[in-house]
Amino acid sequence: SGVLATLPRLKFIQSLWMGVNDLLLDETFPRHVPLSRLVDPGMVAAMGETVLAHVLDLHRDLYRYRDQQIRREWHKFPQRRAQECRVGILGLGVLGTDAAKKLRALGFQVAGWSRRLKTIEGVDGYTGAEGLKSLLSETNILVCLLPLTDSTTGIINKALIAELPRGASVVNLSRGAHIVEQDLLDALDGGHLSRAVLDVFNVEPLAPSHPFWVHPRITVTPHVAAVTDPVTSLPKVVENIERVCSGRQPRDLVNIESGY
Ligand code: NDP
Repeated sequence: SGVLATLPRLKFIQSLWMGVNDLLLDETFPRHVPLSRLVDPGMVAAMGETVLAHVLDLHRDLYRYRDQQIRREWHKFPQRRAQECRVGILGLGVLGTDAAKKLRALGFQVAGWSRRLKTIEGVDGYTGAEGLKSLLSETNILVCLLPLTDSTTGIINKALIAELPRGASVVNLSRGAHIVEQDLLDALDGGHLSRAVLDVFNVEPLAPSHPFWVHPRITVTPHVAAVTDPVTSLPKVVENIERVCSGRQPRDLVNIESGY
């Protein structure tokens, strides 16, 4: 941190990640310089696949069958239709919208929460605190794709989890600080939540001693839900630099006030 503030003639900052929360944490960040985040089509595609993979894994009970296999148990769980499963997505931005459409195509019931109301065919849109409550009350699988800002830090806490029906699962693919870790562990251990899939953590890499590693109902992946793809992102970076050099506005500008 502090490096960007030492560059007085800086005209434009292109993030090489979709999330810019780390950049904005730097108190010396030059807030007057336009900042664009990376909206990388390869990354969007990868995140869509990751969401589908985890939702299908939960919906088709594949985790439970993996547990059974370890114990050499042969037991069939009831088969549910995708239409009976409701996926609630926190954040209907570039990533949330893409995931919502893909889940709809597979027949899942999909709801999404955003700051401004979004209209996506077949997807129930919600906003505000009341909207969040309504979404949560009917959600079986909660997927977090929010940016990390002051208003979303710690959003997945005891109170939010309590609004989910018993047996729901949480999939966090955006930033670790969205989750209050102890509240999540308590809800898993108390049986209110059945499973959590976590790709991102407060401190990365996750410490070897962290309880998440060995929890029987937590899946840990090392922040790989979607990584920057040089092949698909480079043209976006080049285009933005060309736009700035020719006096046009760069694409995907971050609203510094909102933090995303
Ligand atoms: P966008 O900026 O496109 O979308 C953010 C969404 O969140 C918008 O719908 C926005 O609402 C909504 N939102 C923001 N603040 C609030 C709030 N306070 N209340 C309700 N809704 C809110 O982001 P992306 O979809 O591109 O990315 C989301 C995040 O995913 C990134 O910030 C990053 O942290 C994470 N990420 C994780 C990766 C991984 O590998 N694990 C890879 C890439 C990204 P509105 O539409 O009204 O603005």
